[in-house]
Amino acid sequence: MDAMTERAHELAAAGRLPAFVYDLAGLEAHVSAVRRALGGVELYYAVKANPDPELLRVLARHVDGFEVASGGELAHVQGLFPEVPVALGGPGKTDAELASAVHRLHVESPGELARLLASGRRADVLLRVNLEIPVEGASLAMGGGATPFGMDPDGVAGCLALLEGQDRIRLRGVHAHLASGLRAQQLLELAEAVLGYARGIGASEINLGGGMAVSYTDPDERFDWVAYGEGLAKLRREGETLRVEPGRSLTVYCGRYATRVIDVKRVHGELFAIVAGGTHHIRTPATKGHDQPVVPGAAGEPVTIAGQLCTPKDLLARRVPIALEPGDVVEFAMAGAYAWNISHHDFLMHPHPDFCYLGGRPGE
Ligand SMILES: *Cc1c(COP(=O)(O)O)cnc(C)c1O
Repeated sequence: MDAMTERAHELAAAGRLPAFVYDLAGLEAHVSAVRRALGGVELYYAVKANPDPELLRVLARHVDGFEVASGGELAHVQGLFPEVPVALGGPGKTDAELASAVHRLHVESPGELARLLASGRRADVLLRVNLEIPVEGASLAMGGGATPFGMDPDGVAGCLALLEGQDRIRLRGVHAHLASGLRAQQLLELAEAVLGYARGIGASEINLGGGMAVSYTDPDERFDWVAYGEGLAKLRREGETLRVEPGRSLTVYCGRYATRVIDVKRVHGELFAIVAGGTHHIRTPATKGHDQPVVPGAAGEPVTIAGQLCTPKDLLARRVPIALEPGDVVEFAMAGAYAWNISHHDFLMHPHPDFCYLGGRPGE
């Protein structure tokens, strides 16, 4: 039994499940290994993956900055870490968001840049580009075709024209978050294409985005940060600043969603275990259409694990070969990113889960 499972059983005994259990020591070890692998490439954390302050406190010790995508995330991060550099991105920024003081502003369109110029304020900007690069094997594509994200080369030309003859808005470079769910080799190929484009317009600061792959079917299959870091070191030219901004691949592994079985039943031959909570706490299996990996237990007849919601979409994992009885504890792994914070918490008005942190530094 590992420390997280032990804690899940303590929480069960105290009547505190469902709960998210976070391994802060594991997060620290992981992010520091990523930091080392990236060498001279700057590392920002994409806060939307999980903005939990306990996780951010660990991350803040290792990252060069945070990437935020709203005024809400910006206030959250600046309230916790007034000194840490922040990049603000995201489509549909309001005038109030455009007026925020940040290290970098990622401009999404000529219209947005025109509003920024009209405001008369100073800013250091990256232009978010959406280049026509084939993105194969991605789980989500934000670029490489017609999407609401970033600008095609015509949009970039429009921005460059707007920036001429003024010095309040300083063009620092380009930003490209084109897809998610990519392996190191695929991301390096994209990086090469993005760098080629950036150099063509004279940009020396390039944010290559996030989207590093994680595997929910094989949690041990990890993104190859060492190969990625070495590849980027080869691509980088003297005087260039490269930056990445992963979210999922940094925090997904440090969280588990632990709950208990309420009912076990057989319906038309198939075995179901109904657990406390469900996809209103961890929407990930519903949004990704996958089975959330279950921490292995005693082998048993394949059982489909469902939550308490009155919708057939409330399935956490299908046909898992483990023995489950009412009262048993079930733990779902890879619940540290895009889980609680993307979920529809109040649908059906069940109680919210508990939150529990292992290995934090005392006094924080
Ligand atoms: C969501 C997002 C990220 C992080 O993506 P992951 O797949 O979680 O690594 C980074 N940059 C931008 C612009 C994003 O929208």
